[in-house]
Parts: sequence; structure tokens; C-alpha cells
Amino acid sequence: MTGSTGSIGSTGSAAGPSAGGRLAGRAAVVTGAAKGIGRATAELFAAEGALLVVTDLDAPALEALRAALAATGARVRAVVGDVSVPADARRMIEESVAGYGRIDVLVANAGILPLHTVLEATPEDWDQVMAVDGRGMFLTCKYAIERMAPAGRGAIVCLSSISGLAGQAGQAVYGPAKFVASGLTKHLAVEWAAQGIRVNAVAPGTINTDRVRRLPQEPGGSEYLAEVVRQHPMGRLGEPAEVARAILFLASDEASFITGVVLPVDGGYLAH
Ligand code: NAD
Repeated sequence: MTGSTGSIGSTGSAAGPSAGGRLAGRAAVVTGAAKGIGRATAELFAAEGALLVVTDLDAPALEALRAALAATGARVRAVVGDVSVPADARRMIEESVAGYGRIDVLVANAGILPLHTVLEATPEDWDQVMAVDGRGMFLTCKYAIERMAPAGRGAIVCLSSISGLAGQAGQAVYGPAKFVASGLTKHLAVEWAAQGIRVNAVAPGTINTDRVRRLPQEPGGSEYLAEVVRQHPMGRLGEPAEVARAILFLASDEASFITGVVLPVDGGYLAH
């Protein structure tokens, strides 16, 4: 590892166990890969033969993921950085071009998930979540499309949320940022469809990640969690791997005529 925003490097073999997978030979960047949905996505993509760039702010957790994936024979490079910083976002994309000569897939996953009512939220809370979940997604999409357009191919999957498609109590800051994800997906899909770039999103319900498991430690977190689980018709949290499988579908050629879609992965939450 080369420092707090450095590149960790490349390991693994092209002839890994997954050479015939659904992303075989495709270069994919996953942001926010160290934990949660991003980690499950990176693991699934590696198993499907992708040439991976995993990125995150959390250097030790990212290095642990890189080492674990490399041990399976996957080709994986890692970049420590902050998606809201233009130079870092650009490095995440350029690592794929430098290491693999291409970028085929971006999963714009990095995000923070604050729980605030509008009265609790400060102007700083708004700016922070918009910087990471909004601006960070914009920047990584922008730099990815810059490289995908000349190649005439690419697939982007953004992480929206049920709160990026419907209102929820306690999501006065996070929810609007996820509407940005849904909106960016649709606008970029239309803007780049003719150039061979598909842009879709998943809208997970409440998923059993580190972030969600910490909710009971926050004011109102236990009540929010109990209520939101109750509102999922399937009566349980989703698992990160269940979201990762939807992301894989949208990123792969199986979704070759699908663009501009925000796909709920929510145990029926939005079916109400
Ligand atoms: P998580 O907190 O478990 O993981 C998020 C990862 O992103 C962490 O590794 C974190 O270090 C990284 N990260 C945070 N800020 C970053 C930054 N500025 N630059 C780079 N990396 C950064 O979160 P999660 O629950 O896996 O959520 C992942 C995505 O899925 C988010 O976009 C979130 O909005 C979305 N989502 C999550 C849920 C859920 O219930 N967990 C539901 C709907 C949508």
C-alpha cells in the first residue's frame, strides 16, 4: 500500500478459477468495496471472472479484501481514495485503464447512510451526504464514461435505494441523495445509450450490512430498524449477496437491452 490515497497494486492470475464466468475478461471498478454491498459485489464479480479494481476510503479493510480475492486467483487491484475528491475518483477509473487497458463496468456504490429527520439534520450533514453519495457518484460516472465512450461500450450500476424512489421518515438527508442516484442513472442512460454505454441502478431495501447493524446504537435507530423491517413484505432484511446478484445481472450482457432502470431489490417494499 502506498499511503492514504495510494494504489495498492495488482495480484492474481488471469487463469483464475472463474475464467468462464459472466464477467470473464471484463474490467470492473467497484467503489466502497471494503464492506457491505460493495464487498459482496466484488466477491461475486471475482467469482465471475472480472478483472477488478476495488476502491475505498478504509485502507486496512480494502487491503484485507484485496488479499482475500487474490488468494482465490482473482486479478485485483486496489485504490484507496475518496469518491468525492475529483483526483481520487479519476485515479479509481484510471487504475483500471492502466492495469487492464480498459474499463467495462463501474459499480458506483460508495456511500454514507445517515439517519436524520429534517429537524435533526444540520447544513453540514446535507453537504456531507451530497458530497459522497451525490458528487462522488457523479464524479466516478463522469470519469468512467470519459473512458468508456471512445471504446463504444460500458455498463454502469449505481446504488440507489428504496429511499431514492419513495419517501421514508428519518431519511431527510440520505433519501434526497438517493433520488440523485436514481435521477443520474436515468439522465446518463439517455445521454449515452447511442454510444453503447448502459446505465442502471439497483434500489435495495434495508440490507444486513455493517452500517445497518450499527443503527441500534443511534438515537431512534432501533425503532427505525424495527419499523422498516415490518414494512418489508418478506419480513426480513436483505443480504448483501442478494443485491450483488442484481448488480451482476445489470452489469453483464444478460441485461444487454436494459438501460435507465432503477431495479428494486427490496423484498417487496415498493410493491405496497
Ligand atoms: P457500508 O457502510 O457497509 O459500506 C460502504 C463502504 O463505502 C465502506 O467500506 C466505506 O468505507 C465506503 N465509503 C464511504 N465513504 C466513502 C468515500 N467518500 N469514498 C470511498 N469510499 C467510501 O454501506 P452499505 O450498506 O454496503 O451501502 C453501500 C451502498 O448501498 C450505499 O450507496 C448505500 O446508500 C446503498 N444502500 C444501502 C442499503 C442498506 O440497507 N445497507 C440500502 C439501500 C442502498
